Parts: sequence; structure tokens; C-alpha cells
Amino acid sequence: MRRLLMHSPIAVAVMWIIAYLFIILFPLLVLLFHPAPTGRGFWIEFSVALGFIGLAMMALQFVLAARVNRIESSYGIDILIQFHRYTFIVAFVMVVVHPVILFIVQPETLQLLNFPEAPWRARMAVVGTIAFLVMVVTTIWRKQLKIPYEPWRAIHSILAVVAVGLGFGHAVGVGNYLSLFWKILLWSVMMAIALWLIIYVRLVKPWLMTKRPYIVEAVTPERGDVWTLTLRPLGHDGFTFHPGQFSWLTLNITPLSMREHPFSMSSSGDRADQIQFGIKALGDFTKRIKDVKPGTKAYLDGPYGVFTTERYWDSAGFVLIAGGVGITPIYSILLTASERKDDRPFLLIYAAPSWEDITYRKSLEALKSQLDLTIVYVLRKADENWGGETGYVDKDLLQRHIPIHRGSRQYFICAAPAMMDAVERALFELDVPVTNVHMEHFNLA
Ligand SMILES: Cc1cc2nc3c(=O)[nH]c(=O)nc-3n(C[C@H](O)[C@H](O)[C@H](O)COP(=O)(O)OP(=O)(O)OC[C@H]3O[C@@H](n4cnc5c(N)ncnc54)[C@H](O)[C@@H]3O)c2cc1C
Repeated sequence: MRRLLMHSPIAVAVMWIIAYLFIILFPLLVLLFHPAPTGRGFWIEFSVALGFIGLAMMALQFVLAARVNRIESSYGIDILIQFHRYTFIVAFVMVVVHPVILFIVQPETLQLLNFPEAPWRARMAVVGTIAFLVMVVTTIWRKQLKIPYEPWRAIHSILAVVAVGLGFGHAVGVGNYLSLFWKILLWSVMMAIALWLIIYVRLVKPWLMTKRPYIVEAVTPERGDVWTLTLRPLGHDGFTFHPGQFSWLTLNITPLSMREHPFSMSSSGDRADQIQFGIKALGDFTKRIKDVKPGTKAYLDGPYGVFTTERYWDSAGFVLIAGGVGITPIYSILLTASERKDDRPFLLIYAAPSWEDITYRKSLEALKSQLDLTIVYVLRKADENWGGETGYVDKDLLQRHIPIHRGSRQYFICAAPAMMDAVERALFELDVPVTNVHMEHFNLA
């Protein structure tokens, strides 16, 4: 029983949340040990505590962004990124409220904003907070400001280091709580770990990836403006993965350039010697896939993700719901299941613009003879001869196809955001337990 609890995804996720709270609160508690300043009143102490918690939360953001496999495998990358975003906003609010309280309680501290005259510790706080503000604005309104993803990511990392470094410099400069060597040491270790993580993610890990290159074997067109990119490991064994997982792909440039894109593997999870991706031509990078020549070098950081049937080995069967290119992880799930001779029932509900746009149509039809697989295609545009489903995947459509014993299946959805939201709501209304519903979001940033 204890073993089961230790390994249950919910228990592990709760353990990480407790660890998170401990890490942001422990350094604060340590600061309260002797000799803590006295007699400054509640509001000043409260403001200082907000500043320190904000700084600890900012330092922890580096851990959340570091793709630590053990954390990622408890939540999934999309949940982690959401958490990273929300805690980032909370940390920002704390960092801003910290001086605002001081200015209200001790109006004379307002002169610390007089930049040319102010001491270094105050200047560091001002510049650090501005760096933080720029991060918030460029993150929340990146698309409206038309900042492409890659430059944004590079700027985001630099500003994060600047904001946290200056925040820490400010705390040491003020000194009230960080006057003792061992307290400075503790906080320095925390900051050094954060800095090491960013160095590891931006330099060490990409450098390790250069030792494990892949080579493009083929680029083949599929229906629905999707291209299958086939990679072979070069001089190493590649990797196996849980079907439904994804990797970060770098193509034709060194991984140190940090211009990588996430894609779900579309091949069988058991074939380490050949890894495939189904890539839809949508933007700058993906539109160039069709021109990639065999022999081009590629690098992979993966596998990642919790969108996999593997975690539900005891499920009686699966309902897989895909929209457009969202079929890629689901195709890998079906392919792997057929190779493993999985005899459980699979129901695939697959929405596509038209019959001609159904990616992997022929292969999916072939899988029906190898698996207990039922496919319901849902076409947005269909001619009069089409006898199947049309329109959108909604509650009525789902009700017609999903098993009556809703809780007996695990449900996997991968589609455009609007379809995912609609399907999630419909499944909820159809009494599918929320814990049985799993989603993969392709739009992380
Ligand atoms: C877990 C996951 C799995 C995915 N699997 C697939 C798949 O199997 N097939 C497929 O076709 N697409 C998949 N995608 C989406 C794919 O990553 C984006 O379409 C692609 O990165 C867009 O790049 P672009 O330069 O062509 O488009 P752009 O027009 O430059 O970008 C469009 C949007 O894609 C996102 N994006 C761009 N670059 C990145 C990046 N480096 N990292 C993260 N997001 C980025 C941003 O939100 C951006 O606004 C997946 C995404 C995720 C998160």
C-alpha cells in the first residue's frame, strides 16, 4: 500500500508541491533566527518578507524551466509552464508590493527612487524590478507585441538572471537579515543553484546533445499538409519512449543556438533506431520542413510528457480524440499498441477538415486489422456520399460513441485549443471522471 502511494502520480505531484512550499519558505524562516532586527513594526517586516519570498520564488523559476525529468513526469510540461507563469506573476506582485508598503509606511524611503543619488542597493532594486517588469510585459503580450518566440526566449533568460542577481545584490546590500555569513551563504547557494540550472540548460545540456546527433533519413508528405520527418541515431542507440510523448527538435544548427521546437513522436515508442515526427506546416520553422534534405543533422532533447497510455496499464480501454495534426501522439499510441499486440478496445474520434485531409488515413485503416480499433471520422466539409459524422465533436456526438460505462476508459485529447476546451466540457457533462481525461496542448507559449 505504502509502495503504491509513493508511486501514484497524485502522491508524487503533492510531494513536489510540498517541496516547492518548503523551498520558498525555509530560507525565510532561517532569516528569522538570531539576530533578527526588532521593533520595526508589522508592515515593514511584512514588506521585507514579501521581498524575500518573491526572490526565492524567482530563483525557483529556474528549476521549473529546467525541464527536470522527474518533476516534468509528475505533471506534464503544459501544467509546469502554467505553474511557471502563475508563480512568476505572484512573485512579481510580491516584489512590487514590497517597496510600495515601505513607501507608504516610511515616506522618506521614496528618495531611494532618486536614481543618481540613491545608494547601490536601491539602484539594484530599481533596475532589477524594471527587468522583472519587462519580462512580465513581454511574456503576457508577446504575441500582441509581435515578438517571435526564439528571441523572446533568449531575452527572457537574460532578464531573469539580471532580475534575480540584482534582487539578491539588493538584499545583501540592505543587510538587515543577511548580516551573518551563514545566512548569506545559504542564500548564495540557492542563487548559485539557480544560475547553474540556467547554465546547464543553455550550455551543458545542448553541448551533451551534440554528442548524440541524429540524421534525417527521409521527409515524406502526408495528407493534411503534414510532413513526416524520419530520423536515425548517428553513432548511438537513440531512445525508446512512452507512446504519446514528445521531444525538442533542433534541425541543421547546433543545439547551443537554442532554436528548438517541441514535436510529439509519431512512430512506435519501441523503435529507438528510427524516430518519426508528423509536422504540420504552420509557421517559419514548420513551413521549411518539406525542404529539409536527407543527411541533414538533427538533435533531440527528450522524451518528455505525460500524455501517454503507458501510465494506465490497468485501463480496460482507451478513447482517443484528435483534431488535425493532434493525431501525431495518438498515432504513436496506436502504432505501439499494435506492435505490442494490445487487445484492449481503442476508439478513435478524429476531426479533420475533409476526407482528403485525414493525416495517416491509410495507415489508420490498416491498423484496424491489427487492433480492436473503431474509428469515427468527423468531417467539417463532406460531400453528399459521406455517411459518417460531420461538423464538430460535441456532446451529442460523443454521447453516440463513447462507452456507457464512462469511467471504464481513459480519454486522451489532442487538438486545437478551442476543440480541446469544447471536448473537455462535453466529457465533463457526460459524467466522464476528470481524472480519466488527459490532454496535450501544442500551444505552450
Ligand atoms: C508538447 C508539444 C507537442 C507538439 N507536437 C507537434 C506535432 O507533433 N506536430 C506539429 O506539427 N506540431 C506540434 N507542436 C507544435 C509545434 O511545436 C509548433 O507548431 C512549432 O513549434 C511552431 O513553430 P514555427 O516556427 O513553425 O511557427 P511560428 O509561427 O513561429 O510559431 C507559432 C507558435 O508556435 C509556438 N512556438 C514557436 N516556436 C516554438 C518553440 N521553439 N517552442 C515552443 N513553442 C513554439 C508559439 O506559441 C508560436 O506563437 C507541438 C507542440 C507542443 C508544445
